[in-house]
Amino acid sequence: MNRFAYARPDDLASAVRDGMTPGAKFLAGGTNLVDLMKENVERPASVVDLRRLPFDRIEDLENGGLRLGALVTNSETAFDQRVADRYPLLVSAILAGASPQLRNAATNGGNLNQRTRCYYFYDTTTRCNKRKAGSGCSALTGVNRIHAVLGASSACIATHPSDMAVALAALNAQVRVTGPGGDRVIEMRDYHRLPGDAPDRDTTLAHGEIVTAIDLPADDFGRNHTYLKLRDRLSYAFALVSVAVAMKLVDGQVADVRIALGGVAHKPWRDFEAERDLVGQPPTPDRFDRVAKRMTASAIGHGDNDFKIELARKAIVRALRQAASATPQSQVDKRVA
Ligand SMILES: Cc1cc2nc3c(=O)[nH]c(=O)nc-3n(C[C@H](O)[C@H](O)[C@H](O)COP(=O)(O)OP(=O)(O)OC[C@H]3O[C@@H](n4cnc5c(N)ncnc54)[C@H](O)[C@@H]3O)c2cc1C
Ligand code: SF4
Repeated sequence: MNRFAYARPDDLASAVRDGMTPGAKFLAGGTNLVDLMKENVERPASVVDLRRLPFDRIEDLENGGLRLGALVTNSETAFDQRVADRYPLLVSAILAGASPQLRNAATNGGNLNQRTRCYYFYDTTTRCNKRKAGSGCSALTGVNRIHAVLGASSACIATHPSDMAVALAALNAQVRVTGPGGDRVIEMRDYHRLPGDAPDRDTTLAHGEIVTAIDLPADDFGRNHTYLKLRDRLSYAFALVSVAVAMKLVDGQVADVRIALGGVAHKPWRDFEAERDLVGQPPTPDRFDRVAKRMTASAIGHGDNDFKIELARKAIVRALRQAASATPQSQVDKRVA
C-alpha cells in the first residue's frame, strides 16, 4: 500500500477544503475504498474521513418525502420504519445487495459511489482505461461475462454494481452535494454517467464535491413495485441483470411506471419513451413484452455477455408482472417465482 495523509474533519467546510487537495479521496464505511487501496487500484494522496459529519440521520421532508443522510448505513436505511412503509422498493434493493455485515458498515453515499467490479479494473497487471486513462480495455476482447450490453463505449464496457442506485433511479431520487462551488442537487438520472471516452469518471460529481444526502420524492409506490435481481448464486453476488419497477395502477390501467435496469450499463438504465408507452394501457403480458423488447433494442453483447440481452428482456417482463400483481420479489427467499 502507498503512503497517504489522513484527515478527519469535524465540519463540512473543512471536509470540502481537505477534499479539494489533489489526489484526495473521501472515506465513509470503507467497504469499497479500503479494498481498492489494499489492491493498489486506488492510490490516494490523502484520505478524508467523512464520519464526523452530521449526515447520519433520516429526516421527513415538508413535501412528504424523506431525506436519507449520506452517512446513514444501508442497514439503518433498510430498517427505518418510514422507509419500509413508503419506499419498500428501496428496502428490497438494499437487502438484495452484499451481506448483513457489509450493509451494517456501508453508507448511502458510499453505495452510490462504489466502483465497478470489472475483474481487470482490480487487476493492476492488465490494461484498463478506468484505472489508467489511455491504457486500453482488457475486457473488450477478454472475459466479459459480467459486462455492459447497453450504453457502453469502445473505451469501457464496465457496469455500475450498486443495487440501491437502481431503485433510487426508479424512484426519481435526487442527490444533494456540497463542494467548492457551493451546494447543488443532481437528479439521479444524471448522477452516474456513461463511459464515453472518459471511463475514469463514474459520476458527474466534481473533484471535492461531497454527497450529503439523497432525497426521495413523496410518490406512492407502496403497492405495485418489485426489485428483481438475477445473479450467479442466490447469496452474496452482484447482479448479472436487475430490474426495479415502480408502478401506479388506476382503474385497471397503468397511470405511472418507472423501470430501471441494473447490471447492464455504466449507470442505472432507464428508457423514458418505453415507459411512456405503457401509461394509459392495461398491464398485459403482450404490452410488457413490447416494453422489454424496446428497452433492449439497442443492446450489444461482447461475446461472453451475449446472454444478458435475452436475460434482461425476460427479467423486465417478469418484474412488470410481479409489480402489476403486487407480488414483489422476496429478498428473504431469493428464488424467482
Ligand atoms: C464482498 C462484497 C459484496 C458486495 N455485494 C454488493 C451487492 O450485491 N450489491 C451492492 O449494491 N453492493 C455490494 N457491495 C458493495 C457495497 O455495497 C459497497 O462497498 C458499499 O455500499 C460502499 O459504501 P461505503 O460507505 O463502505 O463506501 P466507501 O468504501 O467508504 O467509499 C466508496 C466510494 O465512495 C466515495 N464516497 C463515500 N462517501 C461519499 C460521499 N458522501 N460523497 C462523495 N463520495 C463518497 C469514496 O471516496 C469511494 O470512492 C459488496 C461489497 C463487497 C465487499
Ligand atoms: S471494461 Fe472498463 S473497467 Fe473493465 S477493463 Fe475495460 S476500461 Fe477497465
